[in-house]
Amino acid sequence: MERVYNFSAGPSMLPIEVLKKAADEMTNYNNTGMSVMEMSHRSVAYQNIIDKAESNLREIMNIPDNYKVLFLQGGASTQFAMIPLNLLNKSQKADYVNTGAWSKKAIAEAKKYGEVNVVASSEDKTYTYIPELNKESFTKDADYFYITSNNTIYGTKFNELPDVGEVPIVADMSSNILSEEIDVSKYGVIFAGAQKNMGPAGVTVVIIREDLIGSCIDITPTMLNYKTHSEKGSMFNTPPTYSIYVAGLVFEWIKELGGIKAIQQKNEEKANLIYKFLDNSNLFKGTVVKKDRSLMNIPFVLPTDELNNKFIKEASQKGLVNLKGHRSVGGMRASIYNAMPIEGVNTLVSFMKDFEDRINGM
Ligand SMILES: *Cc1c(COP(=O)(O)O)cnc(C)c1O
Repeated sequence: MERVYNFSAGPSMLPIEVLKKAADEMTNYNNTGMSVMEMSHRSVAYQNIIDKAESNLREIMNIPDNYKVLFLQGGASTQFAMIPLNLLNKSQKADYVNTGAWSKKAIAEAKKYGEVNVVASSEDKTYTYIPELNKESFTKDADYFYITSNNTIYGTKFNELPDVGEVPIVADMSSNILSEEIDVSKYGVIFAGAQKNMGPAGVTVVIIREDLIGSCIDITPTMLNYKTHSEKGSMFNTPPTYSIYVAGLVFEWIKELGGIKAIQQKNEEKANLIYKFLDNSNLFKGTVVKKDRSLMNIPFVLPTDELNNKFIKEASQKGLVNLKGHRSVGGMRASIYNAMPIEGVNTLVSFMKDFEDRINGM
């Protein structure tokens, strides 16, 4: 079988150039006589790999010097606990915005360690929009303010950061990190599981302002303390060596394409092709409020479940796979991360058009 256009929400497509490079280097990395998988994490060769991954990430995201970059395990989900354990250290209060299942999980976890104030929610309409934020409702002395910057399941994203004064903003960027330019200095902590837009599953990137490290609450397990990992350059224990290596290849790939600015343009072009089609279709419908639409995850529906299923099945036969929406929302979802080529999006839109013509002609 040929390679397909994989619209999976995660793990998801990786750039073909990255996969080929990893394949080339699979059995003998840079004349070391071994695979990266077989290499001691304490070796010079591996130290160079992780150092280069970090410096390339710093360069493409323009990460200021007073931020640490950590390569951790446990997925984005472990951050739901690490954030409160490390940051709930003054008022023991935090503000959260509930924009979907991932926010909800983060809220439930934080409640174990302190007082959580949910300042806004879009649960009333199945998270199809980003709620208005009213500064009056914010906790003045909150230890942090938490958002999920892109909501993978529902296809919404924050286009504006709330005005929180000195309170550090924590953002779960699992599904939109590296997709568009952001100003890292506006955040206290950014975290993201790699398997959506950065690399294979197994590594979670944490970008954290230095002053937020070192005041975890007493019960924090050693492995969940940011200080443990920042003091040891993410090598307190064995890091996910191969996942970091592949993520490093992805950072290099972005650099060679002209950085995040260039990637963002491509992402906007790709998303617009689908949104434009949805807005002009009399059959397909986008499910998200226009101003809050994601660049990465695009959910849409047909008038009946029968048609949804027919569409998903026929698309799959054409090599357009994993278009089924999340089980909690149904319909379809096209995840078009950085690695999805524009040809994949064009093929999808042509197929949607063809499907619509056939149904309308019946
Ligand atoms: C996928 C996802 C997660 C969960 O990531 P894991 O690495 O599987 O724990 C959390 N937040 C968002 C926004 C996601 O898209």
